[in-house]
Amino acid sequence: MAVISREKKLAQTGHSSKPLLLIQAGIHSGEIDGKDAGLMLIRDLTVRGTSRKLLDGANLLFIPILNVDGHERSSIYNRINQKGPVEMGWRANGRFLNLNRDYGKLDTPEIQAVVKVMNRWQPDIYVDLHVSDGIDYQYDVTFGYNLKNAYSPAIAQWLESELRPAVSADLERMGHIPGPLVFAVDNRDASKGIQAGPSSLRFSHGYGDVCHVPTVLVENHSLKPYRQRVLGTYVLVESLMRVLAEKGEKLREAVRIDRGSRPPTIPISWESVPNPDRLIPFRGVASRVTDSPISGGKRVEWTGEKQEIMVPYFESAKPLASAQRPLAYWVPSAWEEIIERLELHGLKVELLSEPHEVTVDSWRINGYDLQKTAYEGRVPVRATTTIERRSVRYPSGSVRVSTDQPLGDLAILLLEPDSPESFFQWSFFLSVLQEHEYAEGYVLEPLAEKMLSQDARLKAEFEKKLVEEPEFRNSPRRRLYWFYERSPFFENQKRYYPVGRECQ
Ligand SMILES: [Zn+2]
Repeated sequence: MAVISREKKLAQTGHSSKPLLLIQAGIHSGEIDGKDAGLMLIRDLTVRGTSRKLLDGANLLFIPILNVDGHERSSIYNRINQKGPVEMGWRANGRFLNLNRDYGKLDTPEIQAVVKVMNRWQPDIYVDLHVSDGIDYQYDVTFGYNLKNAYSPAIAQWLESELRPAVSADLERMGHIPGPLVFAVDNRDASKGIQAGPSSLRFSHGYGDVCHVPTVLVENHSLKPYRQRVLGTYVLVESLMRVLAEKGEKLREAVRIDRGSRPPTIPISWESVPNPDRLIPFRGVASRVTDSPISGGKRVEWTGEKQEIMVPYFESAKPLASAQRPLAYWVPSAWEEIIERLELHGLKVELLSEPHEVTVDSWRINGYDLQKTAYEGRVPVRATTTIERRSVRYPSGSVRVSTDQPLGDLAILLLEPDSPESFFQWSFFLSVLQEHEYAEGYVLEPLAEKMLSQDARLKAEFEKKLVEEPEFRNSPRRRLYWFYERSPFFENQKRYYPVGRECQ
């Protein structure tokens, strides 16, 4: 990472009164426009000096290639959808992980390093530079962020009302066609609309939103020439430095508001097919769909003819599920990789120097499903749970994570097991899902006899089940296990998600 500033001490101290822009290129190294644009701008900010005045108003941090392994795996045969450069890098890192899915789980050294940078430097704006795939349209530079219905409403408002008009005007003045992020509902037909619902925290801009760091995702259009895309990125970064210099104070106020807010309810998932909010103008390219003798289905051809149309805009996805904000979470010391990651994210945790007995809400796991395919080096898991209030002893080395901190929303999304972004669903807790002890039949037989002789209600229940459930009646194993489950020996076999939730 390059630190570009007129303040000599900045690199050592990390402190400055000037706003700070963090630009990250090459998270997907085939989409490398940002590396060349950033290097050109650094040249003009320093040795060439033509843009040096920009450093009077803002400082710049620049990561030219985040995914270095992907960058070195270059080939003329990567990125089949993209028009140049001639050789392109690769999406995944050396272990085939997509860095732009790793912001929550932090499995990769690359994203761990980025999160450290965000915590150390506290940038005013964080920008992640990409190149699109998908449909054809006229825009060459598209950019966006989570909107105000997600986790940072004040920041989103500033991005929409201050950043977008200023950056769009600068791009237009230099001959570019800026546009919103284009995630088409149907990749054959732009007229069906554009989705803009919240991105989740595994993605850079979703993570920035949850952490209350103003974060902009840039997607240059893959079907525009490389030179045009690089020049567009140059204009965009230059423009962002100017916007920060001029309007940075107001942005800092928005950040303060979002970091200070403690909403009682946090959405943890969003409906996937929202209703369109309104129509927006869209600068499209005409297409025709014809029969394909090759696939036997339909094929889309982009004609190149410009098409100005109005399309439905799917902006405000509704929360599908939410979590109530607890006071805190308790993480036992055995789960050190969870504790490490919480701290890496910048969450403040209280470390127990001696054991502590606490009444918490515990999630009892009644059943679970593993996803059938591997995903990002993990096997996603979902559980059905019930909440039980119980007293749990946390050994020294365990941590209490208060939600009354600027990153409290992040703690909720990472630790609620029903959250699709949780460590639980990223399969960090697979070992709690199995049984760890078993009971021999010859031990259960006399135990069952004793239980039946001492408890008439249990006996009646057992006999009723034998009559009513033939499958149970015909399974010696299930019949014995039924007594085991009802004995005090079974208590330790109950499966709980190890993280507890402290409520009022
Ligand atoms: Zn990308």
